Amino acid sequence: MAEKPQGLDILAFGAHPDDVELGCGGTLIKLKKLGYRTGVVDLTEGEMGTRGTVEQRYREAARAAEILGLDHRSNLKIPDGNIVLNEENRRKVVEQIRRWRPLLVLAPYPDDRHPDHVHAGNLVTEAAFYAGVKRMFPGLPPHRPYRVLYYLSKYEFQPSFVVDITAEFSEKRRALEAYRSQFFNPEWPEEQTFVSSQAFLEAVEFRARYFGWSAGVRYAEPFWIRESLALDDPVPVFRRQIQ
Ligand SMILES: [Zn+2]
Repeated sequence: MAEKPQGLDILAFGAHPDDVELGCGGTLIKLKKLGYRTGVVDLTEGEMGTRGTVEQRYREAARAAEILGLDHRSNLKIPDGNIVLNEENRRKVVEQIRRWRPLLVLAPYPDDRHPDHVHAGNLVTEAAFYAGVKRMFPGLPPHRPYRVLYYLSKYEFQPSFVVDITAEFSEKRRALEAYRSQFFNPEWPEEQTFVSSQAFLEAVEFRARYFGWSAGVRYAEPFWIRESLALDDPVPVFRRQIQ
């Protein structure tokens, strides 16, 4: 008898390989340490990127997946620069959600400078809903995750909450360094871009420090949720001192 594929507790979607590492890499490392099964689905192969080949980026994504401790990583091969909200793409994302049956889905905040991040955020939002509608895309049994948690790319939002990644920040940095063709790397022979500049990598740190500082911890990743958060006991949640 064929083995039933095990599900995932957390499934993070990124428009391009490395988006997830930037936006919620520390959170994925933390969730793995807490014992959850984690996975990443990249929507595109990032073939429009200025630096690196598709093959190099697959190798880099696989190396980063090891550092994040992922149980699964795959790529939907939607064209880079053209993540459109159509039936074919909705079906692809719905199938991933039904196959892996995550409790939580992580997606890019759907207001951003990069149009692919906007479209990816909206595509995953729609798919997370339709995955629970039995008569949509019949085949795999329906599944509706508890929530979609949106992570930060470029444009900021007022976070609904932040995740303390103080203990995970150095591993997040290592996961980003796995993308040798993409981020600051003076040894890389191709032309310099905004993403490969030293300033970009510095921004990863100062933004994590900023959101950490706003919540009384050293490093944090911000998230936004559309619906309110209900707390059973607010006291332990607010036990941290804000200095
Ligand atoms: Zn991206």
